[in-house]
Amino acid sequence: MTESVVIIAGGGIGGLATALTLEQIGVPCVVYETVREMRPLGVGINLQPNAVRELYDLGFAPADLDRVGLPAKEWALVGLNGNDIYSEPRGILAGYNWPQYAVHRGRFHMLLYDKLVERAGRDVVRLGSRVTGYRKNAGGGVTALIEHADGARSEASGALLVGADGIHSAVRAQMHPDQPPIHWGGAIMWRGTTWGKPIRTGASFVGLGTHRQRVVFYPISQPDPQTGLSMLNWIAEVTIDNAEGWKQSGWFRQVPVSDFVHHFDNWVWDWLDVPAMIRGADGAFENPMIDRDPVPTWRDGPVVLVGDAAHAMYPTGSNGGSQAIVDARELGAAMVAHGATEAALAAFDNRLCGPISQLVLRNRGAGPFGLLNMVDAHCGGTFDNIDDVISAGERAAFMAGYKAAAGFAIETLNAAPPTIPPGARVRGEVPVV
Ligand SMILES: Cc1cc2nc3c(=O)[nH]c(=O)nc-3n(C[C@H](O)[C@H](O)[C@H](O)COP(=O)(O)OP(=O)(O)OC[C@H]3O[C@@H](n4cnc5c(N)ncnc54)[C@H](O)[C@@H]3O)c2cc1C
Repeated sequence: MTESVVIIAGGGIGGLATALTLEQIGVPCVVYETVREMRPLGVGINLQPNAVRELYDLGFAPADLDRVGLPAKEWALVGLNGNDIYSEPRGILAGYNWPQYAVHRGRFHMLLYDKLVERAGRDVVRLGSRVTGYRKNAGGGVTALIEHADGARSEASGALLVGADGIHSAVRAQMHPDQPPIHWGGAIMWRGTTWGKPIRTGASFVGLGTHRQRVVFYPISQPDPQTGLSMLNWIAEVTIDNAEGWKQSGWFRQVPVSDFVHHFDNWVWDWLDVPAMIRGADGAFENPMIDRDPVPTWRDGPVVLVGDAAHAMYPTGSNGGSQAIVDARELGAAMVAHGATEAALAAFDNRLCGPISQLVLRNRGAGPFGLLNMVDAHCGGTFDNIDDVISAGERAAFMAGYKAAAGFAIETLNAAPPTIPPGARVRGEVPVV
């Protein structure tokens, strides 16, 4: 039996951000992670300014993030001949005090891992160790049940357990045994990366198509000075009839591009060749767009959920990874206020579970891509001047409605004090188990 103050189940972005935060505020922790070896898995994700602010407060420098991605400059929807439907600046250019970063998920994940190991030592992350459940202890605290890669089983006790074990969370399954199965609305995403010439600002997110069939792409590296090519992250997406549920094995698997490129055979214009972009990748990840119905609480006594374990959501708002980082920081702030105690978990849960659960449900809609549907309905997606299709006023009103609902509040974020004040530590209350 091993003992540590906080046990973290899962060493993804949420679990590692939690461990880095606890290390910063002086709370000993240990992370149990299923995989035997940390590898840079996945493709592109966006880190919104609210998450970049937290990374800076954790001691990451812009140069660190520049090694795994680049600051995003623009978010744009375009018609099928490349003409503008709507565009807006992102990050610093939009008026935030912090940039938005488009990063390679795997490289960013390794950056978090390397920083944690540098600060807390390699032993802080126990690889090849899956948390299968937990037992609340009569005298306080919690025991995590662990299955190791070699089949051995062990237990670890602590004051608190943080379930950061992703959408298939074992901790959540025990906390909410009656939760419905994973929710799939019928959309399938194929994601990959291809070296190519970035268009528009050189750091633009570009979306085209409709809500039911679309392509999104954006660069996740600075252009190579020799070739001018950046690593382009692309997501090709179709929505199909989901009456029979997801029939493939697994929710996240590598597939050859020949499995799906035919959906986009005709998507070739003089400004963009979608089949060529897809074929330029070594392979792709097939990923049905899934989430989970919200639960009324993320806490069970000394156990709490963060990240996808708490609120797996559709990537419509590009905020799943960012919210996992913000969760970690809010949990740390609650511990600064209440100690590494159940009261801290209750404060965290009261603050975030309600509003973020609403966000999960809101992300099930078409989100900002609803504007593409309007254009498609009016003209089939091809036009010379968008003003002839949908007036500037209508476009602005649509996006304003979406942004108000999604809570993209620049002034509020800029004016907010740090989530965890510099130098804050958990004072005296760190319990010894
Ligand atoms: C391999 C991988 C690739 C991804 N690629 C992309 C991508 O390309 N684009 C994108 O937008 N999102 C991707 N995601 C999802 C994205 O990273 C998350 O939505 C977001 O970052 C929230 O992170 P999280 O830490 O809460 O969950 P996750 O990133 O899912 O991390 C959970 C971690 O917990 C581990 N784990 C799971 N169960 C247990 C258990 N019972 N005990 C111990 N450890 C456990 C997993 O191995 C994983 O490391 C990927 C996730 C993974 C795991």
